[in-house]
Formats: sequence, C-alpha cells, structure tokens
Amino acid sequence: MTTSLSERLSAELSGLRDSGLLIKPRVLDEANRARTRVDGREVVNLASNNYLGFADHPRLKARAAAYLREWGVGAGAVRTIAGTLRIHEELEAQLATFKHTGSALVLHSGFTTNQGVLGTLLKEGDLVVSDALNHASIIDGLRLTKATKKVYQHADVDDLERLLQENETDGLKLVVTDGVFSMDGDLAPLDRLIAVARKYGAVTYVDDAHGSGVMGDAGRGTVHHFGFENADDVIQVGTLSKAWGGVGGYAAGHADLRELLINRARPYLFSTAQPPAVVGGLVAAIEEVQRDPSLMRRLWDNTHYFKAELEKLGFDTMGSVTPITPVLFGEPEAAFEASRMLFSEGIFAVGLGFPTVPRGSARIRNIVTAEHTRADLDQALEAYDRVGRQLKITG
Ligand code: PMP
Repeated sequence: MTTSLSERLSAELSGLRDSGLLIKPRVLDEANRARTRVDGREVVNLASNNYLGFADHPRLKARAAAYLREWGVGAGAVRTIAGTLRIHEELEAQLATFKHTGSALVLHSGFTTNQGVLGTLLKEGDLVVSDALNHASIIDGLRLTKATKKVYQHADVDDLERLLQENETDGLKLVVTDGVFSMDGDLAPLDRLIAVARKYGAVTYVDDAHGSGVMGDAGRGTVHHFGFENADDVIQVGTLSKAWGGVGGYAAGHADLRELLINRARPYLFSTAQPPAVVGGLVAAIEEVQRDPSLMRRLWDNTHYFKAELEKLGFDTMGSVTPITPVLFGEPEAAFEASRMLFSEGIFAVGLGFPTVPRGSARIRNIVTAEHTRADLDQALEAYDRVGRQLKITG
C-alpha cells in the first residue's frame, strides 16, 4: 500500500525523537545582539555568528533602509535575466577590492555558493581532496560533481599529500578546506596546505565562512592572514551571513572565475537575486570594518580574554584559536544539561553532540563577538564556573 504523507511524517519524526535528535530551536524575541531576549529571558548571547555586531548595527540598518527605499523590496528576477541591479555589481567590485582578488561574485548564501562553485568547476576526470571536517555545504556541493572524491584526515597535510600522490590525474585537482573550522575553532594550516597543493599542481579552495570578518587585516579572511590573497590558484568562498551581518555568499579569486560562475553556477542562474536592503547592509558592513578598527580589536580582545579565563576555570577549549570557543563536555547529556543550566542563569550557548560533532566530544560552542562587554563575558564565566563544578567537569 502507498505510504501516506502522515505516515511518512510521523515515522520520520518519531525516529528523530527516539534517537534524541529532534531539534526545537530557541526563539529570539528581539534582534540578534550580544544581549538579547530568548524564549522570554534576558540573556548574554554566545550562540550567534554575529562576530562584529553587524546583525543589528545602526549604520548597516540605515544603509539597508536607504537601499530599500531607493531600489525596492526585491530584485525581481534572477541575476542573468533582469535581476542584476547596479548595487549588486558595486558590492562585487567592493568585495574584490577588499579581498585583493581578480574577481568576486555574490550568491544567495554560503551554502549555495559551495553548491554553485564546486558544481561548476569540477568535472569527471578531476580530483577533489577534502578535509574530513569540512562543512555540510561542501559535502553536498561535492555530491553534485562526477570528480573523484577523496577525504584527508582533518588538517593533516601528510595525509593530503598521500592522496594527491596516489590519485594522479590530468584533470583539475582541487584541495578543499574550511579556513576556520566551525565546530573546533581551529585554522586550516593554509601555509603548508597550499605548498603541498602547489607541489601537485592543485588549486586550493577555502571556505572562509567563519574567517571572513574575523581573520586577517580588517577581516579580509584566513587566506589573507596567511598571505595568499593574490594567488590565482586559490579560490576563496564564504558567507555574508555571519560577520557581515546580512545573508549571502561570495566566491572570489581568479579574474575569470566570476564570468564562468555567472554562466554556469546553477544557484546563480536559477534563483532570484539578493534583495536591495541586504545588499545595502553588506556594502555598509565592508565599509564599517575598515572605518572602525576597534571592531576587530574588541573581537580579538574578547576572544583572548574569554578563552584564557575559561581555561583558568579548568575547562578544555579544544585548541581553538578563533572566536569560536568550544567547551568540551564529552557526553552529549552533559553538554545539553550544561546548556540548559547556563540558560537558566541567563547565558545562551548551544550544546552540540553526535552527529554534528564526533562521538565523545560533545561540547558547548561559544561564539565571542566584538559587541560583548567585559561584564557580559564575566557573567558568562561566573555561570560556567558554577555549572562546571556542579557537573563535576571542573574543580
Ligand atoms: N560554510 C561554512 C564553513 C559554514 O560554517 C556555513 C554556515 N553554517 C556555511 C558554509 C553556510 O553559510 P550560509 O549560512 O551563508 O548558507
């Protein structure tokens, strides 16, 4: 007998419920700020990707409102038909200048950027070698290609070299890595990784979703941090949805990359262009980070302070070197219980377990931002101290 929709929905949902994987997102009652209201409670927000406080920044909002008034609510079409507004091209030119790359293209999200770029570039006979901890959107993007796919152990340049050696091809070779890894807060070893890629004639593809607006001079990104921004054999992709405060993705690199993506990237070709207000906010964001150097300073001062104080309390921050600050609990029950206890103390930080992170390494992921005050961080640290002792993680 044919499966009915209700049977399918109820079977899937009870499967999730039974395995403890059913997600019920918390709801923000106010804008996404360092201090906000979540599920009716005032909280210090350590859960968002709002690194520079741009999600609710007055200058960005003013520009978004101005673009909305002048250019309207929607772009009206896909970019290749009638949806390319002058402001889209201005944002792309601004991004290419900012990133010191030959070209840049804006897409709808970091997720669709990975699908669009990987799906466009890679063909049968090509080789792609991808870090084991790369983001889900890279994994899905690679599913769209007929290239030979290999996975190297996380950040292990020797393992990468072995795979490049063993899988010689005349096709394009692509090494794919996150710039900053979203669950651990560690950096890809781009200096060694790009050297090995070059040795085998491979192009390096860096998803800098968590490094853009965070790493490098004025937040130019992880590739800039390692000094490779002008290289034609490095492709930078990322999101405009985290540090940059809006929503969108970008691909930047070789001068011809943009034109090929305009012609071939399916999310670009078949999905309506970014709305004007979003474009306005993003243009203002890239100006603002260069106008106000205190943003980056505060982001990094807060990051160093919070991490050092957590470690003094006895927590394991898992070797993170970026504002992504995991606190290891091991078992998911402990991480989820700690997250609930923190929330009841006014600290919003999310627990993560398998399959989001490997078994045995359940954690709470804290994200420090430029917007947090010392008082916010101290409140969080005091709560962590109590929770850590109560759950016998510390003390
Ligand atoms: N790549 C990485 C490494 C990410 O962390 C994310 C965000 N979850 C994305 C891509 C997707 O970006 P977006 O939210 O703009 O779709």
